[in-house]
Amino acid sequence: MTSPASGTDIATALPDYAPVPRSAVGPALNDQGYYVGRVERNLYWVTDGSYQSAFLTTKDGVVLFDAPPSIGGNIRRAVDEIASANGVSNKVTYLVYSHHHADHAGASSLFDKNVIRIGHEETRRLLLRDNDPARPAPEETFADRRTLKIGGERIELAWRGPNHSPDNIYIHFPDHDALMLIDIVNSGWAPISICNLSEDIPGYVAAPAIALEYPWKHFIGGHVTRLGTRDDVTLHQQYMADIDASVRKALVSVDPTPFFQKYWDNPWAAVSALFDAWTDASAAPVIEKYTGVLAAADVYTRSTTFWVMESIRLDLGYGSYVHP
Ligand SMILES: [Zn+2]
Repeated sequence: MTSPASGTDIATALPDYAPVPRSAVGPALNDQGYYVGRVERNLYWVTDGSYQSAFLTTKDGVVLFDAPPSIGGNIRRAVDEIASANGVSNKVTYLVYSHHHADHAGASSLFDKNVIRIGHEETRRLLLRDNDPARPAPEETFADRRTLKIGGERIELAWRGPNHSPDNIYIHFPDHDALMLIDIVNSGWAPISICNLSEDIPGYVAAPAIALEYPWKHFIGGHVTRLGTRDDVTLHQQYMADIDASVRKALVSVDPTPFFQKYWDNPWAAVSALFDAWTDASAAPVIEKYTGVLAAADVYTRSTTFWVMESIRLDLGYGSYVHP
């Protein structure tokens, strides 16, 4: 019997990756592990370096947008810090959900029971289904669009079809030149596993163009250490378009025959090896192009490429073969 590996052994065995480009790095965190900054006027954003939420201070209290559990109690501290610096109310009166996922909504229950929760009707349905006490379902819902007017501030909510999740919404702040759209574009960084763990890939791929239809200067993407710009969204679009083009090339240039010859009695072994070969051929030129441009392109491009490839095959029917 071998003894279990120590933490140090595991750490030394882990692979090294390309350095994170400076362009991907945002402001430093404080001693409590968060950073809160102004987006524009009374709209603020909070980060712990991995997650982001936002809030508006208004004369009817604070409107919070998402409550990621990793930021957790620091959301309260960030709100208190800003409210006391500006002599405004720190009472959180509204909480708007971007979508139902626990990693962006799981600190919702930290806020007062009197808070009014707002979200898409599908967010309500999914949260009632998931029955997680950390994420009370929104009482106020909408189907396609809703304009919130709270304490003299205007917030435009819109559902434009499924993308990352079935219920993910666009949160536009027309008077703050800002757009919040979570889990689509990670400003300065590659998406994480399988397109930021997205369910609807045609919707995921289309979402940045919808985001760019809105007028805004500041982008709140929900992840990593800084706010985004329109250029960040465009760069992400280019990255996804390059993956798409590379996949279409690989799907018709890698010959499946040898995989089925070798594994003639085990079709799953053949499919697994073929998927790997397609993914490797598709991902390689994209990794080369974006290393040093998008942080973690060498970490995650392969996974996102696999998922785009499956969508191109299964959603779009590209390369589909009908037996004669
Ligand atoms: Zn999500």
